[in-house]
Amino acid sequence: MTAVVDCQTDMNKDKRMIFVDSALSSGTVRSIITVSKDLEKYFRCFQFFSRYDEEVCASKGILNIPVLSIVLPLAWILGANVYVEELDGRFADSMNALQKEYQKIYPKAPFRTKLFVDELVENDSAQDGTALLFSGGVDSTYSLFSNRALNPRLIMIFGVPDIPISNTPFMEVVKTEYSRFAKREGLKINYIQTNALEILNKRRVDHLWWNFRGLNEGDFWNGIGFSLGQLGQVAPFSIGRFNRLVISAAIAHGIKEHNVASLPDTDEKISWASLHVEHVGCLHRYEKILRLKKLLDTKRIKFRVCWSDPEYLFKMGSMNCNKCEKCLRTIASLALAEINPNHCGFNVDDSTFDLMKILFEKKLLTQQHLRFWWNPLHKRIPDKIKADIFGSKQFFEWFKTLKLDSIAKPHKTVQSILYYTFPYSMYQLFSRIKISRILRRYLIDLVRKKYTITQPLELKREKSPLLTSSKQHTKI
Ligand SMILES: [Zn+2]
Repeated sequence: MTAVVDCQTDMNKDKRMIFVDSALSSGTVRSIITVSKDLEKYFRCFQFFSRYDEEVCASKGILNIPVLSIVLPLAWILGANVYVEELDGRFADSMNALQKEYQKIYPKAPFRTKLFVDELVENDSAQDGTALLFSGGVDSTYSLFSNRALNPRLIMIFGVPDIPISNTPFMEVVKTEYSRFAKREGLKINYIQTNALEILNKRRVDHLWWNFRGLNEGDFWNGIGFSLGQLGQVAPFSIGRFNRLVISAAIAHGIKEHNVASLPDTDEKISWASLHVEHVGCLHRYEKILRLKKLLDTKRIKFRVCWSDPEYLFKMGSMNCNKCEKCLRTIASLALAEINPNHCGFNVDDSTFDLMKILFEKKLLTQQHLRFWWNPLHKRIPDKIKADIFGSKQFFEWFKTLKLDSIAKPHKTVQSILYYTFPYSMYQLFSRIKISRILRRYLIDLVRKKYTITQPLELKREKSPLLTSSKQHTKI
């Protein structure tokens, strides 16, 4: 509930509280976060920033949006109240609606946060104009070309898991590639840098998130953070420039059980000033690639889809590792659509499809993952496969014979239950020390009995590039 109140009076009664205050200085919004003592452990630092590459002119009520977009999802799962002196009225209302929407998805989380605002203000974004959150991936490239007539301004955010601001050389590689791309397309592109993720104690927050995540298979950022966390960074920049902000769907229509931060019902609740958010392109990745096929045959488009460590990618001199699950999933979709992945930013060779087989032979993917990400592709394999791209024909003939439901790993692994069942201090200890084999076996057996897990245990995970490079990150 948004309330215009005397912050000081309520802060005195409140035990769990977060206070934010923001100011603009040389194109950078800087915010100070103050929290009650018991919440300090969830933060690594209390100075937030969001930096823009063009002039920004916005009221304080708008300047508070970037930091709140990171802090509010955490407050929702902590059950903490949030205090701010000035805030855009539409944003405040939209956050109440968003909190209720996420409560439907994650009913175990507190979601009782009240947003206390001293002064609600009205702002205008612009009369018209469209901007699109752009990462260079399949989803945002599809959204761009399906909304090409609108000439959207592209906005790329640095400071998200796949482009950390600490890795300046990789950031420059990405910037050079997509600045050239935007120039070829005659579009504007802007880059926002933020330390949004660096302010949170990720391990601590993820440990808390495990209690509430339900069917979500990712971390806090994947489950509830990344949508508002990225959209909100755009707020000060939107003023005077555009009033429509497009975010790309990663999940196809009809997939109900896949809980992630970005869904049409959540994203489209978010608004500020006169701006509204649109969630577009609810199609499976393969469908998007099929619809982009003509374009990919004629234009030089390099996809950037990878989840691997940017430091590793920079050393490799590539934006994709060609080995992680997401790279392989995209390569498979391109090959099935009879598009050479090597023309789209990948480096596929005769070993790529053998590596892809390992994903299934070693049961590295959960049932949910297989159902949402691989099953739609599995269903589209024709009886007669014509194209053969680096051994794709043989792979698809083999893949078609698989029963995906029978080759899934459990949603909760023994190891993850073991870690997250214990308090954070013990979880940290388990993460850092080598528990003796006997104690480890005893604890794992206990958890197996409690959760009736019958799958064979993998105490030592094999050092496969598929595992080392995969992370539960979400990119637009
Ligand atoms: Zn990759």
